[in-house]
Formats: sequence, structure tokens, C-alpha cells
Amino acid sequence: MTEDMAERAPERPVPRRKTINSPYLHRLQRRHFLLFDILPIVGTAAAFVFLAVHPFGWTELALLLSMWLLTGLGVTVGYHRLFTHRTFKAAQPVAVVLAVLGSMAGQGGLVSWVALHRRHHEYSDREGDPHSPNLSGGGLRGTLRGLAHSHFLWMRRHEYPNIVHYAPDLIRDRALVRVARLYYHWVVLGLVVPAAVGGLVSMSWTGAVSGLLWGGLVRIFVLEHIVWAINSFLHMFGTRPYQSRENSRNGGIFAIVTLGESWHNNHHAFPESPSFGLDWYRLDPGFWLIKLLACCGLAWDLKVPSAARMDAKRITAA
Ligand SMILES: [Zn+2]
Ligand SMILES: [Zn+2]
Repeated sequence: MTEDMAERAPERPVPRRKTINSPYLHRLQRRHFLLFDILPIVGTAAAFVFLAVHPFGWTELALLLSMWLLTGLGVTVGYHRLFTHRTFKAAQPVAVVLAVLGSMAGQGGLVSWVALHRRHHEYSDREGDPHSPNLSGGGLRGTLRGLAHSHFLWMRRHEYPNIVHYAPDLIRDRALVRVARLYYHWVVLGLVVPAAVGGLVSMSWTGAVSGLLWGGLVRIFVLEHIVWAINSFLHMFGTRPYQSRENSRNGGIFAIVTLGESWHNNHHAFPESPSFGLDWYRLDPGFWLIKLLACCGLAWDLKVPSAARMDAKRITAA
């Protein structure tokens, strides 16, 4: 070190930037928006047109439901409860399978998804939240604009959360980084599998196309809108049993179809909890899978909040 350098030291550390704005990242976001958010809408319309060629049969129903369930569990149990919030620990093969299934949903690569969602919890319904419905002004116009933004339009272009800041644990895990790098391959696999099954069951090309449409694009469309509705509607409408600093709500009637995600106020109040329902009678299929994994010794360290902690946050009628 020269004397000159020694004189200037110690320099103040440059604070790490929480978000990154770059034209390259915005181009990737636009491409992702067109491929995975607009294309499934087109694919769903095409699926209905294609009914004139190939009817919707048991194979299409089975492909739609099974692929929705597998990728939906990948998102809620893998992406959300395991990787974003670390609500439990899982055996490495289970973690990898969940990461692959979550990737097949087409809602973004693992590391980006986790970073974005951690930022959502950090800034929920305040400046910096990537997708709040409550920051677009008042009145009917503001409400509608907020809903459209939080449900869908925010993904066209947004600040990219710095993954070094938001997901240091994930980028240290070599197996998970490998899964994340192959994100586009997993999405394609999620389209090829239902196409192959549809083709083989019917032994026809029209069956393959029908499988691709219903088990692939329609399934992506359905799951996306279910997950996005949590970001939009459940930060505006629904019940609010627990205190939390943002406007998150529960939508109990959607518990099964969202695999437990619709207990969104519970989740914001207790983000460390693998159970979103919290009480046994609040249906939470995502938590049922975690319990099953725990019974098999494949998941452990479930951080369910104590009754006292839940009581302390409960909003009472008084
Ligand atoms: Zn969350
Ligand atoms: Zn939220």
C-alpha cells in the first residue's frame, strides 16, 4: 500500500444497492412477459378453438389437473414456503424436485422469484413493493389501476431486486443455482411432458397438440392467475384476523384452489410459518404436503408459531 493510499483509507464501504435498473434486464423482463404471461392467454384461446379438432376428454382433464397440482405445489411449497421464507428444512433431493416443479410453472426463475418476493415482504404496500394494488391513487380509477398493476402489468418492466442482497443463501447453494440456470429448460419440459402423454394416449398428433394446450399453456394460465390474484385481490379484499403492517387479507373460500396461499393475511402476520392456514380446520394443501414430507423424514424443523404468539397478533372484535 502506498502512503497516498494509506492516507485515504479507511474508505467508507459503498452501500450495496437493493435494486438494479439496466436496459438488458428490462429486455429480459419484456421477453419473459410476452413468452410466459401473454402466450398462455393466446394458448388458452387456441385450446378452445382446437376443441373443434380434438375434444376435451379424460386425458386432457387428467393432464390439466395433475400438471396444475405438481407445479402449484412447486410454487407454494418450494419457491414460497421453503426457499423464500425458509419455514422448514428439506432433504436436498426434495428441495431440488420442488425447485424444478416450481420452475415449470413459468413464473420466473427460482432466484429472481425469491428475491422479488422477499422484497414484497420488506416493502409490502409501501414504495418499493414490486406489486402493491394500493399505491395507484384513490377512487374507482385508482382501485382498478392498482388491481391491474399488481395482478399482471407490473411484470412488463420493474426494478430488479439485487440477488446478492436478497438471496445470498440461494446463490451459495450450487445445486439450486444449477436448477435456476436451467429455468427455460424446465418450462419447456413442462410443455413437452403433457404433449408426449397426450400423443401417446391417443396415438395421434392432434392428441399431442391437445395435451400441450391443456396440460401446458392452459395450466400455466390458470396457475398464474391464481397466484397473481393473491398479489392483487388479497391485498385489497377479504378478512383480516391478524395484525400486520400491510393490507393483506384472507380469502378462505379459495383455500383449496390456491393450495393454501389464500390465507394471505395469516402468511404476512407469520411469514416464518410453514402452515398458512394456522388452524387445522383452515384448509391448506401446501402444508399437508409439508406434514407428509415430515412424516417420511424428508422435512424437519417446521417453524409453526406458538398459540401465545398467534393470540398476541389476533385482532379481537373489541
Ligand atoms: Zn411470502
Ligand atoms: Zn403479500
